[in-house]
Amino acid sequence: MKLSEIGEFGFIERFAHRFEDLLAPNAMGIGDDCAIIPAGDDHDLVLTTDMLVEDIHFIRDKISPLDLGHKALAVNLSDVAAMGARPVGSFLSIAIPHGIDVEYLDQLMEGYHQLSERYQLPLMGGDTTRSPHKLVLNISVVGRVAKGTAKLRSAAQEGDVVAVTGMLGDSAAGLHALINNLSANPESSYLIEKHVRPHPHIEQGLWLGRQRSVHAMMDVSDGIASDMKHILKASGLGAGIELSQLPLSDQLKAFSAQHQLNAFELATSGGEDYCLLLTVEADSFQETAASYKEALGADLYAIGFITSDQQLKWTKDHQSIAGGLKDGFNHFL
Ligand code: ADP
Ligand code: MG
Repeated sequence: MKLSEIGEFGFIERFAHRFEDLLAPNAMGIGDDCAIIPAGDDHDLVLTTDMLVEDIHFIRDKISPLDLGHKALAVNLSDVAAMGARPVGSFLSIAIPHGIDVEYLDQLMEGYHQLSERYQLPLMGGDTTRSPHKLVLNISVVGRVAKGTAKLRSAAQEGDVVAVTGMLGDSAAGLHALINNLSANPESSYLIEKHVRPHPHIEQGLWLGRQRSVHAMMDVSDGIASDMKHILKASGLGAGIELSQLPLSDQLKAFSAQHQLNAFELATSGGEDYCLLLTVEADSFQETAASYKEALGADLYAIGFITSDQQLKWTKDHQSIAGGLKDGFNHFL
């Protein structure tokens, strides 16, 4: 059997359960944005690790080393934000192919340092080795959260409002612009910036992490069409998502129209937005969104609701999309 037949998650499922018995009480292992290790009377530690491989996650001559250093750390911080935790330290392992200039590596570390400084986050260790061909970065981040309060993918409840903390699809459109050398106008420059310099929603995650009305939370890394399924599977529930409520930037709309792209497809399946996807107690949603706006000066965007039927259903202007989302895209071109 080839890996392509079962995919990344099928591979993980083959062994994950064998390690569950080995977990300490109250610890949480494989399956969420971070693992949780109980650490003290008043707090837990959360841990995440993510790898970026050249030509899989980035193309070396399409992203500056400064941006790459920033992004490699940002995608890990996003997983810490998803738990409602505060990052406390990072580790960087790097496999370097022959012939890379030291100046390139200095710039990479400059980008890594700039983001670290913003969150007062020390780099505390790592590993450095040679690589036969490609540049590989693996980063781990440790975070801290008040005991028992980390937000899990499994905590959604029937009737919850599904919400996101940022625009969807900008990063995917930026990648399209980069690959096709479309960087010449303000829209594409804006979208490319979103792709190469994602900003992890740390402050948003910390604030949301303190709210009892916030039930499940994760970050948007693969696109909500895929990420939503993780919350639903972990919670044993379903959801209805309304496409007309997805927050789309004006730049994405203009760019999609210019280049005959489907903005909804980019927003749901493009990925790498690194905002947060969460479910909120329905009765408290308006109040939570208003306090969030007051505290952070930003919006919580309601995009749907949690249902009991264990299916993910999509609507557009409250009409169901027969045949599912992929089929739906064809109707919106
Ligand atoms: P994220 O996108 O939030 O980083 P992933 O989709 O990469 O999460 O991974 C899903 C879950 O599977 C996470 O809990 C992650 O730690 C775990 N995981 C992924 N690959 C492996 C592996 N090779 N061994 C153990 N756990 C893994
Ligand atoms: Mg994640």
